[in-house]
Amino acid sequence: MNWLSSLKKLAEGKDDPGFVRIPEDKDESISAGESPTKQQVIDSTCHYTCTRMCYGYRDKSSQCCCIGERDFIIGPISDTERFLAALSEKLGEEVKYEDVFIDYEEGRQIFPDKSCWQNPDNFPCMRIVPDQGRGYPCQFLSLDGKCSVHSIKPETCRIYLCDYLKNIVNFLDQTL
Ligand code: SF4
Ligand code: SF4
Repeated sequence: MNWLSSLKKLAEGKDDPGFVRIPEDKDESISAGESPTKQQVIDSTCHYTCTRMCYGYRDKSSQCCCIGERDFIIGPISDTERFLAALSEKLGEEVKYEDVFIDYEEGRQIFPDKSCWQNPDNFPCMRIVPDQGRGYPCQFLSLDGKCSVHSIKPETCRIYLCDYLKNIVNFLDQTL
């Protein structure tokens, strides 16, 4: 007797179907019934938002990797040595500090009209591509809007939450 007909007999109140065994579920995906953790929900929401709904704009991504027209800076970078070492290993050649980062003395002259580029506390920042049309992106931002050093990116980039994303994370944290 298979398990389904056994269950049917039980439901119909018919004679004792004997031992009922539901086959073991071999599917280990979330859809198999295991609930994601709260942290997993928050992490995947952040991933979705940053790559598909950046700052509330559908099909936009990684806007905090560009300066754009805003008074904004990608810094300060706290783990410059770690990042340089990881990048050198990834590329198979030594990468120089000045190729990757901008210090205050250089940075304050790039955007004299942006207050955060006039504050030494925001340096070193990530070196940007001097391309206004692309919104002065970080040089590691690929043309399709992805971070080309995602697995080793600086801590500043890993923990950054814009106001838009911060609101979403706070909402999920309080309501889940
Ligand atoms: S933190 Fe904000 S601005 Fe940056 S990628 Fe995510 S949604 Fe976009
Ligand atoms: S290193 Fe990656 S995450 Fe950080 S600003 Fe550059 S492109 Fe964005």
